[in-house]
Amino acid sequence: MSVVDIVVLGAGVSGHTAAMYAKRYLGKDANITVISPEEKYNWIPSNIWVGVGQMQAADVLIPLAPVYQKNHVTFYQGRAIELYPEGRLNNSKPFVVYESTGTGSLGEKKEIHYDFLINATGPKLNFAATPGLGPDGFSVSVCTASHATEAAHQLELVIQEMKQGKNKTLVVGTGHGTCTCEGAAFEYVFNVDTELRRQGVRDKAELIYMTNEAELGDFGVDGIQLDVGGFITPSKIMADSLFFEKNIKPILGAHPERLEKNKVFYTDLSGKKGEVDFDFAMLLPPFKGHRLKSFNLQSEDITDKLFSPADFMRVDADYTAKEYADWKPEDWPRHYQSPYYKNVFAVGIAFAPPHQISRPRKNPEGVLITPAPPRTGMPSAIMGRVVAENIAQQVKTGTLGIKTASMGDMGAACIASIGTGFTRGAAVSITMCPIVPDYQKYPDTGRDTKLTFGEVGRSGHWIKKMLHYLFIYKAKGSPFWWVIPE
Ligand SMILES: Cc1cc2nc3c(=O)[nH]c(=O)nc-3n(C[C@H](O)[C@H](O)[C@H](O)COP(=O)(O)OP(=O)(O)OC[C@H]3O[C@@H](n4cnc5c(N)ncnc54)[C@H](O)[C@@H]3O)c2cc1C
Repeated sequence: MSVVDIVVLGAGVSGHTAAMYAKRYLGKDANITVISPEEKYNWIPSNIWVGVGQMQAADVLIPLAPVYQKNHVTFYQGRAIELYPEGRLNNSKPFVVYESTGTGSLGEKKEIHYDFLINATGPKLNFAATPGLGPDGFSVSVCTASHATEAAHQLELVIQEMKQGKNKTLVVGTGHGTCTCEGAAFEYVFNVDTELRRQGVRDKAELIYMTNEAELGDFGVDGIQLDVGGFITPSKIMADSLFFEKNIKPILGAHPERLEKNKVFYTDLSGKKGEVDFDFAMLLPPFKGHRLKSFNLQSEDITDKLFSPADFMRVDADYTAKEYADWKPEDWPRHYQSPYYKNVFAVGIAFAPPHQISRPRKNPEGVLITPAPPRTGMPSAIMGRVVAENIAQQVKTGTLGIKTASMGDMGAACIASIGTGFTRGAAVSITMCPIVPDYQKYPDTGRDTKLTFGEVGRSGHWIKKMLHYLFIYKAKGSPFWWVIPE
């Protein structure tokens, strides 16, 4: 058996997982190469705590080079820009072109050949979709460790002014009608609330949650009917009660149209226009994919074939346009394999979802205001592991493994902390299965009620904190890292 070349694009949750497992499964039978633009891995979920000053960026970042060196994975710091899945006329081995982002070779273009490619490039933070949105505009973000550090700084400045007796308005939420990751915005707003209380200024703050969800607790998955202490409770009720208790004012079904200094202009699902003056705003951007310019053997541009209009990579999903009533869990991919090139895979946020999970909604002017489907950490990592496992099977036996990781089958656990601290922290803990509701199998709620439950309490906070350390340990490739589940 000759040694195969597996190239992984992106050292985030799904790509890092895929690379580490591919090496573990294949050992010397494979050269694993990771190409990723940042020199450090970011455990993104804990950016929330960085964004309120309860953690530092260093707590959520891990230098990648030593981890890969220790685990015999080659790492190039760079950004993939082009894909040649049929190779060239004089060498049919497929390859990727990447642009170095490392010091000393910044901007240099290089080619890397592969037998198998795993695209795990995650989201492109599309702040440009809303004029004035984001760190280069008038709001902050917690999507990267450096964004979160700046968010904490801006929050602290506002808190200092409140301590001087000034009243302030803080807006947290989603910065466009088609955003995803509502869970992160939800978690951040409760952490901001906690921080304001901790610093004794909550009475000086109006805290607003601006979200594209039509109702609280949608989370981009059309809400969840949770078993709470033996009673089915919609996530809406749980969320409504939390927002009421903490005096956080929701603005629902909102599509921010533009931001100016200290002001956000929005329209909502009813078509109403509104504006909010703010002193601090953390609004998440919508996500796009990272489109790699792709060419066939004849140098024809095949990018539109491989990537969706939103720049995510098409895989083994059913992308036929369908009415909401016809959406099925079977539409969702199972192996994350490109339908055009059997040795190309896309996992995590990089793959193109077949449709939303939350039901599509437009306002009377036709503006789409609906959460895009979330692909959270747990499913993203599972996809990475399963694809690595299937590829390893193919390398060993000649036949691609048949393990699946469909969001129409698998569950996900989400814990949104409500502040930190061993004795003060709490969290909303939600487990759901499947992620994509299946109304044929579970006609009442779309999900298995035995596996779909939630609670608010301190234990969730402890678990979230424990997961921070466990996942950092795992990402470092520390001894027996694979024992820790995704
Ligand atoms: C603030 C926040 C909080 C969150 N909290 C939670 C949580 O509590 N629980 C949870 O389950 N999920 C959470 N998520 C979601 C979770 O972070 C994502 O599901 C997960 O990171 C997706 O993994 P990924 O590998 O697809 O993308 P990422 O983890 O973003 O990794 C993508 C990688 O690709 C790299 N890359 C980008 N472009 C290129 C290129 N051209 N070439 C090569 N590499 C490239 C990036 O630098 C990055 O290293 C949160 C997300 C955010 C933003």
